[in-house]
Order: sequence, then structure tokens, then C-alpha cells
Amino acid sequence: MAEKHVYRFGFDENGNNVTEVAGASVNEAKWITGGKGANLAEMANIGLPVPSGFTITCQTCVAYSSAGNVWPEGVLDEIDEYRKDLEKRMGKKLGDADDPLLVSVRSGAPFSMPGMMDTVLNLGLNDDSVQGLIKQTGNPRFAYDSYRRFVQMFSDVVMGVSGQLFEDAISAKKAEKGVKLDTELDADDLKDLVATFKQIFADNVDAEKYPEVEVVDGKPVFPHDPILQLRLAEQAVFGSWNTPRAILYRKQNKIDDSLGTAVNVQVMAFGNKGETSATGVAFTRNPADGTNERYGDYLVNAQGEDVVAGIRNTEPIAKLPTEPGLEEAGNQLFRVFEILEDHYADMMDLEFTIEQGKLYMLQTRVGKRTALSALKVAIQMYEEGRITKEEAVMRVAPEQLDQLLHPQFDAKDIKGRETLAKGLNASPGAAVGAVVFSSADAEAYAEAGKPCILVRWETTPDDLHGMVAAEGILTSHGGKTSHAAVIARGMGAPCVCGVEALQIDAPNKECSVAGTDIVLHEGDIISIDGTTGNVYLGEAKLVRPELGGDLQTILDWADEIRLNPERGRIMGVRANADNPEDAQLSLDNGAEGIGLCRTEHMFLGERKDLIQSFILANDEATKADALAKLGAAQKGDFLQMFKVMAGLPVIVRLLDPPLHEFLDSPRELEVEIAKAEAAGEDCSAKRAFLKRLDSFQEANPMLGTRGCRLGMLYPELNHMQFKAIASAAAELIKDGVDAKPEIMIPLVAFVEELSHLRELCEADIAEVEAEYGVKLDIPIGTMIELPRAAITADEIGKYADFFSFGTNDLTQTCLGFSRDDVESSFMPLYMDQKIVKSNPFATLDSGVAKLVEMGVKGGHIANENITCGVCGETGGDPDSIHMYYDLGLDYVSCSPFRVPIARLAAAQAKIEANGGPAKI
Ligand code: PEP
Ligand code: MG
Repeated sequence: MAEKHVYRFGFDENGNNVTEVAGASVNEAKWITGGKGANLAEMANIGLPVPSGFTITCQTCVAYSSAGNVWPEGVLDEIDEYRKDLEKRMGKKLGDADDPLLVSVRSGAPFSMPGMMDTVLNLGLNDDSVQGLIKQTGNPRFAYDSYRRFVQMFSDVVMGVSGQLFEDAISAKKAEKGVKLDTELDADDLKDLVATFKQIFADNVDAEKYPEVEVVDGKPVFPHDPILQLRLAEQAVFGSWNTPRAILYRKQNKIDDSLGTAVNVQVMAFGNKGETSATGVAFTRNPADGTNERYGDYLVNAQGEDVVAGIRNTEPIAKLPTEPGLEEAGNQLFRVFEILEDHYADMMDLEFTIEQGKLYMLQTRVGKRTALSALKVAIQMYEEGRITKEEAVMRVAPEQLDQLLHPQFDAKDIKGRETLAKGLNASPGAAVGAVVFSSADAEAYAEAGKPCILVRWETTPDDLHGMVAAEGILTSHGGKTSHAAVIARGMGAPCVCGVEALQIDAPNKECSVAGTDIVLHEGDIISIDGTTGNVYLGEAKLVRPELGGDLQTILDWADEIRLNPERGRIMGVRANADNPEDAQLSLDNGAEGIGLCRTEHMFLGERKDLIQSFILANDEATKADALAKLGAAQKGDFLQMFKVMAGLPVIVRLLDPPLHEFLDSPRELEVEIAKAEAAGEDCSAKRAFLKRLDSFQEANPMLGTRGCRLGMLYPELNHMQFKAIASAAAELIKDGVDAKPEIMIPLVAFVEELSHLRELCEADIAEVEAEYGVKLDIPIGTMIELPRAAITADEIGKYADFFSFGTNDLTQTCLGFSRDDVESSFMPLYMDQKIVKSNPFATLDSGVAKLVEMGVKGGHIANENITCGVCGETGGDPDSIHMYYDLGLDYVSCSPFRVPIARLAAAQAKIEANGGPAKI
């Protein structure tokens, strides 16, 4: 069958539902007709009042864009068929001078990208059809207001004319009439504005870019033909998929660039036909904190975008049924809330319009929510019997938990602070930073490493880059569904909006606070609390949050599933920690052991001097003294670590620094010598030392004397560490503490390295056993960090009780990417050009995954009881955790902060790998 490019939704002239679905479920259909199109079809199918229309598929957008903005053959004819069908169903024609059909043209990708792409309303108006609209409504003011909105929106969105020119023209008209509000302009004023707007179009549209547009006397003419209007609007929607802001949004939200957007052409419903008309945006529950309450805003006598644009202050949705003339529609809307939740078993976000008392549903989708809300709603839905525990666990995105694990304001510090101003608590979390008044400044501050708060009257889609750069967002206008609020919640950034006390003068970079004599200037430090809506002057103290409440509940449910052997293979979660405080934090966050204790992190300050003197000393006495001191210090470290982690495994890795990190910089010494010699000092001893330091310099230290190679060169260092680990364990075991260290040899390439070092290690452990009179069971394993180790894992595994994949080095050596350099050099370019999908140091690369697979297989051939885990950065990344589950790893290990994220991601990976969540 030929590819279908258009699907219709809604009703025919007899009121019968004639919706064509693009898939067996909304989730299937959304890849074809986009989220908006698929949900409009779904709503029509469950009997909700949806204005009729049709959807052009995402695949058409992809084909159009990849052909260099050329329509695929036959598609324009197919669209025309559907346009005629819609006209027949509605009994009206586009452009008709008696009873015109008017439509909206909206984008709708498979994943929602709020405010990122284009919309055109009131399409179909021209000098003839506006007369038809007057005839039908008897309301010339409404007709001309609709017409001027259309010319304005079409010129801005479709033809790229600056929206400001139109706003200026409206201001000029109001000044001429001596009025303040748009609503005070009458039909004739609006008719004049239509003419002015068309002139703005003629003066500002680049005719060469739009060959379809008629040119008279060298100037482009605003298109009269509704069919052309429609085609240009559809093309603009397709084009808006590839605007820089849409591309940035997709990058932020990991949405595939190749999906494309659908176009929805839908009959207009008017929320601006007087006091019994309204428009609004709502959520079935609170998307900020999850409370089970109706949430959202509406405006009486207003059109679509007015609510989100924050131009007029909105009313809370709960008030809607109390508006005279809107009682019935308001109550009907609340029934729709229930129908939608019953049908989708989730919290929904929706847009509606009431036209002269009649309710129309314009859109619904699963509501975007903060982490706080995601947790609460998932638990509520389970408790209400709508979903299973497994579905509840799948409902929370692990990355989102980051929001809750990040600092919040210290309650004591906040109590003592006076609130500077208060707004709406639009997106929870605490942020401290310097005030900036533009997105460009926010970016500049972030680049200079200075945290900032973006302070705006309202944000627009063009502010996305500034919002990403800022720590938090503060606006003086707009409700909880304003652009700033929606986007901040999506990003997990703290946001306080609608702080009316702020009088922002962005051009002069200052802002006064009503009721005070305070004036904020760029660079002044403020603190904002998106959970309460409070704004404070100065730097409020931040504290680390504790796990508890809903987060704890979901993590408990996740663990229940993850650790249930009957539900599938178990994957553990450990932490990378190298001091007792971090070990404690790991435990508090639910880690089941330490997967990596990097001992080189224990060699700071005085210990660094000791190790330097050991390496550089020429005499044995100095060396022995340094080693003895280091051994004692290490034993002390391990005593503490093993005690905190009693009963749980602690993998201690032998020293693994690039050598230069332990030695002073010869360049500094060189400068010191040059200065001293210039002053006539004798520096021969220093010069000799410099020569020795220089002899240790490596051109490529990350691939030099690292890992086990250091211990091969200086066996005394290994010996010192083996003894310190074993004797700390022996001492604790004698005291009744269940110390469970494991010893890990880093950066092994050859089986001979491991077999040799294992032999030495076993001999040292045996000596300690004899000395303390205790039996020790200390597994010895290795890191797999080099391709050769992965390839020869079937040999190396013979000498290893466990493997831990070090994907930081394994990625570096597999890809030949210097881990210290590429992320700031060519990686951004590689990501932009899609050479790599994501940063391979953050998310496991598919090539490196093959090495891991080889390593796991080889390890098991050599030793069927081998334990395999990962301790590189990817061990805490949800996408990688899914890959690790499928690769058969026994555990992942990550930073203590990421442990809760890893627990949730590992449970989700297991659910997905074992047939998806159990259903009600
Ligand atoms: C690794 O290489 O992945 C690893 C964990 O070791 P390090 O980062 O210390 O080199
Ligand atoms: Mg490493």
C-alpha cells in the first residue's frame, strides 16, 4: 500500500466519529501523527469534544526536509483531499465570503517540545472571508480582531517578520486613540490595524525567499488565497523542527533529531467570542508537587496563546465553574479531567477552549512534572488501583531524581532571612546566583564559572539557552503554566514566576522591588526557592537533602523488584568512595558495597610528599622511612572504611595515578632555580633534583607508568598496600567487625602482570594471617580498562575472582580519545554533527560495550564464578545501566550521589529486560 501521509480526526457532518488512527495505541500512533495528533484522535475516539481536523505525518516532515524543503510527490494532492473532506464535514469552505471555515495549524512531534515549534491560528481569513465572519457572528470587532491576529501571527511565524513591529503598531494605535488596553480599540481601529499590518508585511518580507507570494510594485502582498496560506503555514511548521532553539531543546532532552514533527490542521474554536468564551491550560493534578488537585489557568474572552504568553494575568482553574455563563462548561471540563485520568491512568495536561458556553478539547498529553510530582503521582496512581507497583516504578525518570538529591536551603538560615519578594512556586529547588537580565548575560556568567539567576519579565522560547545556563529562573509575570514555568519544570531548574513586586528595567540592567527601596543590579546575589516561591537577598545557605518520603517509597519499591530473584537476574548497586564520610553517604543512599576505593585519593598533602620522597630518594633509609609512614597511614584509612562498611564488600584498588600527579612540577622548580641563580645562589643540589624530576616526565602520562605498572616498577608500594589492607581487616575481624575487603589490580594488559601480582598479594595475606592468627578471605581481582585485557579476558580471568570494568580508561583506549582533553575540544562538534550520539565518557559507547561483552564472556570461560561489575562514570548513567543489565553485569558502581538514580535505573532495566511492567 502506498504510504499514507494524512490522517483525519473528529466528526462528520452527521456527528459521527470518523477518526483514522495511525497505530494500535497512542504510543504507536505518536511516531506517525505525533503526540498531539495521536491524542486528538484518541480523545475523539473516547467521545470527547474535539474540533475536527487532519494530521500530516512526521514522516512527511522528514521527507520534505531531507529533500531540501520539497514536498514528496503526490502529498500536496493528498492534503488537498483531506482539506476538501474537512470542508465537507464542517459544511463550510476556507475563504468563503458567507460562512468561512477557519483553522489552526499546529506542530506536534512524537515527544512534546512545549513552545519550541510553530502555531498559526485563524488561518483562512482574508478581505472576503472576514465579511463572512462578520455575517456569522454579527460581531465586526471580533472578526477584525481575529483578522489582525492572523496577519500578525502569520507574518511573524511563517514569514519571519519581527513580532515587535506589530506590537509597536498596536501601541501607536492606542496612543493615537488615547486608550490603554487592546480591548478599548474598536472594530474600525482593528480594521485599520489589519491594513497597517499588511503594510508591515509588504515592507519586511523578503520576496525572494517566498517565490509563491505575489509581488506588486516590487513589494510582496499578504497572501489572500487560503490554500496558499495553508501550504505556507504547513511548511513553516515543518521548518520549525530545525530552528536552533528546537535543536537545542532536543539536545537537552535527548530527543532524536530524525523524528520530525507532524502538522495538525484543526477547525478553530474561539475563546474570544465574548464573556461566555474562554481558553485555558490545565493539569489534572499538580505538576509541581503532585498534590491531587486541579491545576492550571484560564482567561475569559481570550485566544489560545494569551494564557501561555503571560500577557494577561490568568485566573486559577478551580474558579472556572463560578464564572457566569461558564458554569456548565466548567463542570464538564472537570468531568473530562476524570475521563482522561481513567483512560490514560496518568496525570494529564490539557488545553481547552470554551466558545460561547461550548467546551472543546484542543490537546491532551501525559503531563510533564517535576521529580517531586512524579514520585507523588506514581504512588497515588498505585494507591488508587490504576497502575501496578512496577508501572509506578517505571513512571519516574531516574535522571529526574537529581533534582531532589541536589542542595536545598538550610531551614535555619532561611528562618533568619527576610523575604525580599514572593511569587509562584513554579518549579521546586533552591538556587543562588548573581542577577542577570538577559539570556546572553546568563550564558556569559555561566561560561565565566559564575552561577546566575535569570531575571525576566517573562521568558520566551528564545531564552532557552539562558535558562539552561542559569541556576534558576525568576519572572515578574506569568502563571504556573507560563513558558518559564513549563520549561523550568521540564529541565528540573528552580523557578519562581509571577513576582509582581519586581519592576524590571532590563535595558538598564536593574530591577526595583515594590514596597522597598531596594534596587537590584546585575551581579547582585539573590537566592530563590522554587518550592515556596520566596526570593531572598544575598546568599542563602544550601544543605544536602536527606532521602525520605515519596522518594524513599519509590526506591523501596524499586529495590523490591531489583532484588527479587524470581523477577529475573539481580544487578547490585555499589558506590565509588574513598573516605569514611563518602562511604557513610553511600550507605545512606542505599549502596550495597564499595565498588571502587581509589587509594591514590588518600595520598594528598603530607602523604604526597612521602610518596614523592620514596620515589625520588637515592638512599634506602629514606625510602624505608617513607614507606613505613605510608603503610601506617593507609592502615588507618582502611580501618575506618571497613568499619563503616562492615558486612559489605569494599573493593580497594592499588595505587593508580598518572605518575606526574605524585611529583612536583619541574617547571616550577626550574623558575625557582633560575631566580636563585640570578641572585648568586649555588643551586647544584636543586639542579640535580630537577634532573631527576625531569627524568620521570612522560609525554603521555595517562598511558604511562599508571596502574599495575607502578607496582611492577616499585614492588615495595604494592607490598605496603597489601599489608595495610590485610592487617586492617585482620585487626577488625579479631574485634568482631565483619571487614570484607577485596583487592583490585588496575590497568592490567597481560595475564602475566596479574598472575605475578596475585602471587605476591597472596604471600602478603598469608603473612598477615600468620601474624594475627586469623583466616582471611580477600578476593583478588582486576580492572578491565584496556582493550587487550577485554580481548584476553579468558586468560586473565584465570587469576581473577572479579572483574571491574573501568570504562573511563576503556573508552579512552578503545576510542583513542584522551579523556582529559576531548570533552572540551572536539566532542561538542562530534555531538553536533552526530558522529557520536552522546558523550561516550558519560554513556557507554556501543563499541566499548562490545569489549565489555567480550570481557564478561571471557571471564566466565576462565572462571564460572567470576563477579563482573563496572566502576567507570557510566556506572551511574541510566542509559548505560540498561546496557549493563543486558550485558549480564552483577553490579554497577557510581558516585554516592548517583546511587539512588542507579537503584531506580537498575530496577527499570530489569523490568524492561524481563517483559515490561506487570499490568493491573
Ligand atoms: C576507569 O578507568 O573507569 C576507572 C574507574 O578508573 P579511573 O577513573 O580512576 O582511571
Ligand atoms: Mg582507570
